[in-house]
Amino acid sequence: MPKSAEQSAIETKARRGFFRVLAGVGSGAATALVGGKLITGTKARAAEIPPPLAEPSGSVAIRMQEDLDATIASGKTPSWLMVVDTRKCIGCDACSVACKAENPTGPGVNFRRVIKRELGMGAQNWAIFKPVNCLQCDDPPCAKAVPTGMITKRPDGIVEFDDQKLKGSFAQAAAQACPIRQIHVENGKTYTQDTPAEQPYEQRSFVENGRVHSRKRGANDMQDSARKCNFCSHLLDVGVLPSCVTTCVGGAMYFGDANNPTSLIHEITKGRREFTGHQNLGLKPRVIYFEESMPGTTHISCTACH
Ligand code: SF4
Ligand code: SF4
Repeated sequence: MPKSAEQSAIETKARRGFFRVLAGVGSGAATALVGGKLITGTKARAAEIPPPLAEPSGSVAIRMQEDLDATIASGKTPSWLMVVDTRKCIGCDACSVACKAENPTGPGVNFRRVIKRELGMGAQNWAIFKPVNCLQCDDPPCAKAVPTGMITKRPDGIVEFDDQKLKGSFAQAAAQACPIRQIHVENGKTYTQDTPAEQPYEQRSFVENGRVHSRKRGANDMQDSARKCNFCSHLLDVGVLPSCVTTCVGGAMYFGDANNPTSLIHEITKGRREFTGHQNLGLKPRVIYFEESMPGTTHISCTACH
């Protein structure tokens, strides 16, 4: 539906405010009270970086699917990027649930989590939501912690595990090396393990890292293997967008081929990979965050702490 002039004016004003905030980042000392603690933020580099573009018009979901169709039809190797606009995340956890349904994991394990923080800023309390999954680093510390070949980069940028080799102590070493703790070692637990009846959803087979797997009791071939988000590569390979992207209620998720100059992802990132958040870890992440500073400071964003 087309936006009203009033709605567009409000959104433009909000975006300008966000841009001004970004322009102020890095201009001085950065401190704030977060969760009752005084924290000091790193000198942000966002002052040197132009802000994200305005929101695209039309249906974002349809545009992303059309972009994906075009990439597959072209036969060219894509360069996948995910953008998370934390300004739109409403903390509903729809993406986490969709991820779990798509990529079966046991209790307490999720490839996608939404971190929620309540911040005490003077008299005001604020809630901040930040969806997190593997960043598909172009310089992944997890790969450096294990023998060559156990963790590889696909040509499209996805970090893939050889889950039949990345087991036991190797899986643990990779998990320890991930600076944002996005690797889980399969422990085989199921939601009905203490009940007599295993449920069908726990017995179904699924595709991960290019192989068909099962978490059935007594027949879990991923036991002790390292696991993580892989941009739902099994879906991408057949022309379907990642589950967390298609289920995002707040419209906070974008996904696409950065090599395609007419794609939505190229439009909203303006072809850049450098934004705030995780950049200072030197990981060259393929998950990019659009965000705003916390209230009461022009310097600190949610990625300052997590
Ligand atoms: S976020 Fe962690 S698990 Fe993912 S590629 Fe980077 S280091 Fe590896
Ligand atoms: S891309 Fe797939 S595996 Fe990764 S967080 Fe989203 S739903 Fe989960």
